[in-house]
Amino acid sequence: MTEGTLLVTGGAGFIGSNFVHHAIALDRSVITLDALTYAGNRANLAPVMDDARHTFVEGSIADQSMVTRIIAEHRPSAIVNFAAESHVDRSIDGPAAFIQSNIVGVFVLLEAARNYLNTAQDSDRDAFRFLHVSTDEVYGSIENDAATENSPYAPSSPYAASKASADHLVRAWNHTYGLPTLITNCSNNYGPYQFPEKLIPLMIAKALRSKSLPIYGDGRQERDWLHVLDHCRALTAVLDHGRPGETYNIASGETRSNRDVVEDICRIMDRLSPRSDRSRHAAHIQSVEDRPGHDRRYALSAARLEADLKWCPEMDFSRGLEETIVWYLDNRDWVDAVQPRYAGERLGRAD
Ligand code: NAD
Repeated sequence: MTEGTLLVTGGAGFIGSNFVHHAIALDRSVITLDALTYAGNRANLAPVMDDARHTFVEGSIADQSMVTRIIAEHRPSAIVNFAAESHVDRSIDGPAAFIQSNIVGVFVLLEAARNYLNTAQDSDRDAFRFLHVSTDEVYGSIENDAATENSPYAPSSPYAASKASADHLVRAWNHTYGLPTLITNCSNNYGPYQFPEKLIPLMIAKALRSKSLPIYGDGRQERDWLHVLDHCRALTAVLDHGRPGETYNIASGETRSNRDVVEDICRIMDRLSPRSDRSRHAAHIQSVEDRPGHDRRYALSAARLEADLKWCPEMDFSRGLEETIVWYLDNRDWVDAVQPRYAGERLGRAD
């Protein structure tokens, strides 16, 4: 990875913490700024909390004076923005927090970066990158084929609309002010440290407690699934070699229905963690009423990333899923500690 300190916002969440571990393993210095919402967790950063290359700051990206102070103090060579409210169901129940963090927060970050670069030395300005981590959900439901970076935006949920708004702001700050921005739109991630309100860790956590496994509607909603470490590798490639002003889709090409994913989890759990009554985990799958605006299918083409930056996913879904389940089984303390934070027993969607 390129030189200099990275300011990683939202680095105590699922993908952010995996990225912080990844960056430290590449010997980068990292400042993590995280508001520690219900989804943020210091324990996700435990392996690097005492590392001299890592500094943790608790605070919001929407706090202008704090963001300005951190940037002035640490003079980062890049801002990598993961900070966001990220759960679609929560955006339906209470969209205000999504507007504040996902739109206003990004505006504050963009302005802080712009003001910093206005006074930075030429060499710092040339090297600087603002990498905004976004989602495939901005493209809305894709009936056939896969969305490219040129596909129209058609967000369906308040979450997706807030992410789409932020993408537009980032693009405008590049066009208008010349801020060296990069946007990545990624498909559904899975892997260690994912908060158990999202489909895969939720089903694992419920199966571990011999609970029923609720899935929304017919469970035939399709998603592209990418292992979080493949996402981190892609972000590193974009940070180092991406063209400022460009957008890159990140996806595995492994599209599966929610029901298929849950059945895969059940098969692995039958082997690694059978129920005490010997019933099959899959016998406890339950359909529950679907949520409003539930997109049927997301699919992305990562052809640009593959052609221009020579990235391709290294983890196939079967191996990645089994490794993820093993991680949750080996980290029961982590699961038990976050469990009081997810009362949402009804949840059963992928995003
Ligand atoms: P997450 O909910 O696990 O983590 C989000 C983190 O951001 C938490 O640590 C939270 O405390 C922090 N945060 C929230 N608001 C903040 C604020 N105002 N200031 C500072 N920190 C704040 O989310 P995730 O799944 O790790 O997703 C990270 C990013 O990647 C998000 O921007 C999301 O939109 C995007 N993304 C996620 C996926 C996925 O499958 N999880 C896929 C594509 C894109």
